[in-house]
Amino acid sequence: MKALVKAKSEIGLVLSEVDKPSIGPKDVLIKVKTTSICGTDLHIWNWDNWAQSAIKTPMTIGHEFMGVVDQIGSDVKGLNVGDRVSVESHIAGTRSRNAKAGKLHLDPDTVNLGVDRDGAFAEYVSVPETNVVPLPDSVGDELGAILDPFGNAVHATLSFDLVGEDVLITGAGPIGIMSAAIAQYIGARRVLLTDINNERLALAQRVCDVETVNPTEQSISDKMSAMGLKEGFDVGLEMSGSELALKEMVDNMIMGGKVALLGLPSSEISLDLSKVIFKALNIKAIYGREIFETWYKGLALLESGLDIKNIITHNFEYSDFEKAFALLNDGKAGKVVLHWS
Ligand code: NAD
Ligand code: ZN
Repeated sequence: MKALVKAKSEIGLVLSEVDKPSIGPKDVLIKVKTTSICGTDLHIWNWDNWAQSAIKTPMTIGHEFMGVVDQIGSDVKGLNVGDRVSVESHIAGTRSRNAKAGKLHLDPDTVNLGVDRDGAFAEYVSVPETNVVPLPDSVGDELGAILDPFGNAVHATLSFDLVGEDVLITGAGPIGIMSAAIAQYIGARRVLLTDINNERLALAQRVCDVETVNPTEQSISDKMSAMGLKEGFDVGLEMSGSELALKEMVDNMIMGGKVALLGLPSSEISLDLSKVIFKALNIKAIYGREIFETWYKGLALLESGLDIKNIITHNFEYSDFEKAFALLNDGKAGKVVLHWS
């Protein structure tokens, strides 16, 4: 079968012919239909320090996808050949305290699809049945392929009560934009989304109707005053990984405000913790999705009418992967989808 493989320790990926995966009794073989490229895949393409330490070559990459069940293991129950499915890419273990307590998203033995084991940028992928999520008919193939990053947005955005609250989101990447759409949909009073890239803010306007600001053009505090807020934002969602954005967020929170950190800084950052303490901020770090509560809530939001489809800006056939990665490396796209069949 065809697969996008990090074959050697060098920049890029190669489209290779590899063996179709085999499945064990508790596994499911999925015929991949639609995949989406994540920031993680870009790191792997660009072969940065993180990727070099994380990936053992050769590795088929990719973890954001949907497809159709092609084969089920002898012990698999509740899934049938032909089912449309997506997959939770964090494959949790069973031995840790958290895993045993059902907190699968906090299991330290988690293995990541497309990073630690062969992933979904291929015609077929094998995954444990426990990670398979059936898709409702109302969630189309393209949306089905981006449920993993959408789940990051759902997890972060639902981690605090947003109803009637004023929300600051820093970083209008796909996850920040989807979070803004969710915050607005579930009843936040005002939502301000920031980015230093105006193209990203323009994309945000095509997905949801929230306030936006480029903090290099207007300060967040000036924008906040213009929005009629006096004491600061009640809830902050940091989705850029930028040190500056985090500092600006702390400066613009209300006392006792709540902050969720999702953006990954590319290196160590500094923060004046006394500001966090004197503001009595409540900070929560977000990793991945709550397995499977985030999937339940996310699909429920989509089925009840949340519309995020415009976050998908480009579609390519898998053979055009080089164009797709180049576009993402230029910072010009939202979510980019590759079609496999
Ligand atoms: P992205 O890189 O596409 O978006 C980040 C955005 O932040 C970019 O548009 C960038 O222009 C903007 N930005 C940079 N500096 C800024 C500043 N000072 N103020 C405001 N905006 C600024 O990333 P994404 O795919 O949307 O993911 C968002 C972040 O979440 C990334 O850091 C990613 O690595 C991280 N992430 C974390 C998890 C997790 O489990 N915690 C999962 C997926 C992604
Ligand atoms: Zn991803």
